[in-house]
Amino acid sequence: MKPENPAPIQWHFAQRVQQLQSSVIREILKITVRPEVISFAGGLPSPATFPVAQMQAAFDAVLSRQGKVALQYGPTDGYGPLREWVADRLSRGGAKILPEQVLMTSGSQQALDLLAKVLVDEGSKVLVETPSYLGALQAFSVYQPQYMSIPTDEDGLIPEAVPAIGQDARLLYALPNFQNPTGRTLSVERRAALVEACARLGVPLIEDDPYGELSYRAAPLPRMISMNPQGVVYMGSFSKVLTPGIRLGYVVAPLPLVQKLEQAKQAADLHTSQLTQMVVYEVIKDGFLDQHIPTIRKLYAEQCQVMDAALTEHFPAGVTWTKPEGGMFTWVTLPKHIDSMKLLDEAIAQNVAFVPGAPFYANVPESNTLRLSFVTVPPEKIREGIARLGALIKTKV
Ligand code: PMP
Repeated sequence: MKPENPAPIQWHFAQRVQQLQSSVIREILKITVRPEVISFAGGLPSPATFPVAQMQAAFDAVLSRQGKVALQYGPTDGYGPLREWVADRLSRGGAKILPEQVLMTSGSQQALDLLAKVLVDEGSKVLVETPSYLGALQAFSVYQPQYMSIPTDEDGLIPEAVPAIGQDARLLYALPNFQNPTGRTLSVERRAALVEACARLGVPLIEDDPYGELSYRAAPLPRMISMNPQGVVYMGSFSKVLTPGIRLGYVVAPLPLVQKLEQAKQAADLHTSQLTQMVVYEVIKDGFLDQHIPTIRKLYAEQCQVMDAALTEHFPAGVTWTKPEGGMFTWVTLPKHIDSMKLLDEAIAQNVAFVPGAPFYANVPESNTLRLSFVTVPPEKIREGIARLGALIKTKV
């Protein structure tokens, strides 16, 4: 029997979630699951790189050897050996990082939420790049900050702009390697200048680095946390170097902050899956990533090259795009009069998809931009999809 509701609920959502919206990307992904659509829209790593057999063997090993521990509740800060592994790996950069500074999280996305939860009040100033990672803007926006947009050029964010806008900011959020969405890399000089600018202002610098190990050519540039471990908060993830489905990331912070983050995590979900952490540790403890990551880099570098060649061949003069040196994304700038949100409707009618650029801007959007991911589309489909998109853009220039 259905219960009667004499007073139907008038849902009164909290102030902080009233402006929340579903990510544009997630909406586009619903359309692009159709097999005939060539989609450059997703931000997914290539499943060809997932180490299924190693994960399976590790699940077996952990469950048969330590099943009772793996299936029990665990500590909030994370699985000890894995925290040590993270601290050791980051310490290779020169500055000593302690395991106590590491908090394991349910994807690095959770770290973004926790950081905003403990650092941001309504109206607090938060500095972000222009454009920035959409998932970070979504996570931060729940806490109702006042965004200050840091200007960028083809070399990433401009540190000289920070002192003028950064006074009293609660945090500065930066993506130094193969940025999502632009694919740009911040030079060593700019990293040092940014670290210095934040230190002078006393503003915590958040270094979000899920793509750092996916450098195609040169050795990765130094991490900002190695330049100033007392002023930088580092975020890493196993999503792009192992698999995203396990939802495992970490945040590394000075002790007073990591303790507060841990309390916030306790309230949010008690801890990240102990089983998952133990399995990941089992997979990586003997150096698996050092053989595995080069295979991901090689695949992505080839796909990136195919994308760049296709763009050169099919896109008209007046369109520019970034030349990523790692990671998964290229950022395209169209002539000013073309709105990529409108272009998307026409592109989808021709079975090709991308993500319009506007949602990646915290303040004033540049609507003539778009993001292309090249890692999950095979080379011949990259060529075909870019040819279709190029033909469409040529009708508008
Ligand atoms: N930061 C950036 C820049 C990302 O691109 C992503 C994933 N798209 C994340 C954080 C979150 O990754 P995860 O939660 O899978 O670790």
